[in-house]
Amino acid sequence: MAVNTFSQDICLEKPQELLKNQEQVPQNNFLTPDPYQILFQGNLHPVFEDRVVKFVEEARAQGFDIMIFEGWRSWQRQSDLYGQKNTVTKAQEGMSFHNYGLAIDIVFRDPDGSASWAAEHPWQEIGKIGKSFGLKWGGDFKSIKDYSHFQLPVKESVSTLKKIYVKDGLNEVWRKVSVI
Ligand SMILES: [Zn+2]
Repeated sequence: MAVNTFSQDICLEKPQELLKNQEQVPQNNFLTPDPYQILFQGNLHPVFEDRVVKFVEEARAQGFDIMIFEGWRSWQRQSDLYGQKNTVTKAQEGMSFHNYGLAIDIVFRDPDGSASWAAEHPWQEIGKIGKSFGLKWGGDFKSIKDYSHFQLPVKESVSTLKKIYVKDGLNEVWRKVSVI
């Protein structure tokens, strides 16, 4: 079993064409931390979702204008991202924690409401807050840092999760996963 596959799950460097268009952000939701309504759709692990809600609430209470950009990712989207020329993800379909509702990407919001991954944002502060709520932060990845990425720490490797998923589906993944 792979000891640590986290570093393969890179979501930071998205080419422009893959970014969700700003027009897709509901204008009246600019001020919410969840304009794409990623939370409460039933496709994030409940323990993870609970930690994410608290993390985002705390970060915003401290004045950081962050929002959730992506959560659960279908195998098809994972495959599309993987197929891009630019580095979007190093994880093939089924090999990302996003595929199992165990990861989210957080971005800062620019004044015009668009998502920003700019390096000058206080990522370290956000990472610190996320970790204080029991999340694993992509900024701590050993190889390529992925500052926007947070995931639920679990004992299983992503390939173990994939095997469970293929055989028994997402509910079994969630039932069997050992949350740290
Ligand atoms: Zn991610």
